[in-house]
Amino acid sequence: MTTDARILILGGTPEARQLALLLQARAPAPDQVILSFAGAVRDLPETSCEIRVGGFGGAEGLADYLLSRKITALVDATHPFAASISANAQAASSATGIPLLRLLRPAWAPMQGDDWTDCANSAAALEALPASCRPFLALGRQELRQIFSKAAHLPALFRSIEPADFPIPEGWRWIEGRPARSMTAELQLLRDAGITHMVTKNSGGDGAYQKIAAARALQIPMLMVSRPAEPAQAVLPDAEATCDALMAIFTTRS
Ligand code: NAP
Repeated sequence: MTTDARILILGGTPEARQLALLLQARAPAPDQVILSFAGAVRDLPETSCEIRVGGFGGAEGLADYLLSRKITALVDATHPFAASISANAQAASSATGIPLLRLLRPAWAPMQGDDWTDCANSAAALEALPASCRPFLALGRQELRQIFSKAAHLPALFRSIEPADFPIPEGWRWIEGRPARSMTAELQLLRDAGITHMVTKNSGGDGAYQKIAAARALQIPMLMVSRPAEPAQAVLPDAEATCDALMAIFTTRS
């Protein structure tokens, strides 16, 4: 990577952090890789690259940032369900001419043994729950804040990294934390809580997959929220492929 290359990674995913590490190893100077977070979660990863936190102020704000920091390539490595920032990245890239790459991990697909129903969005998934059930709402706190009333009558379990910022319905149970990395832990959680249904987003990746495997093993029906539509563009499935594509851009230019 040449000294004039400067890459902004829109992050909030493990893949964004992996890409930052890969690029950092190739960058002559530490300020050539900037990893950006929305600021929704407090514990940020330790990294030697530059970190910035907080929104840019829409597509225009992002375009201004790209120009003022002399960014030469933008990578949208945000979560598949973070639709606003992806649209802003597309608009800012078009407005500035700065190339945009989309790192998007593949979606999960149902496997033999899954009882899986695709739902257009989280609200539709909650509405599809039977009148009497004990669901695990694996949806995230910000999402639930908008729609929790649709499942307020059910004895639901939900898990989030940060505490809920909405009034938790009386029959609900909240547990703090990230998805467990071990299937045994997820099996135990589902069994102990007597879960009969799971509502989850099709996030893809390994980090949150063990709950899917556990639901399959326990034959728990899954209401799977489909990903929002992405702006039309080529996607790169992982950090390695994105790093290679960036190197190809910089090699062509030099
Ligand atoms: P969103 O709806 O697409 O974004 C809302 C606003 O947050 C954006 O318009 C932007 O503000 C700011 N923003 C989002 N990502 C940013 C980033 N990486 N750097 C700086 N500003 C950012 O996104 P969301 O669904 O709220 O998710 C927020 C962040 O959490 C994303 O970075 C995403 O990767 C991560 N995340 C999301 C989910 C999920 O299920 N949605 C799950 C895990 C992690 P401005 O318009 O002011 O620039």
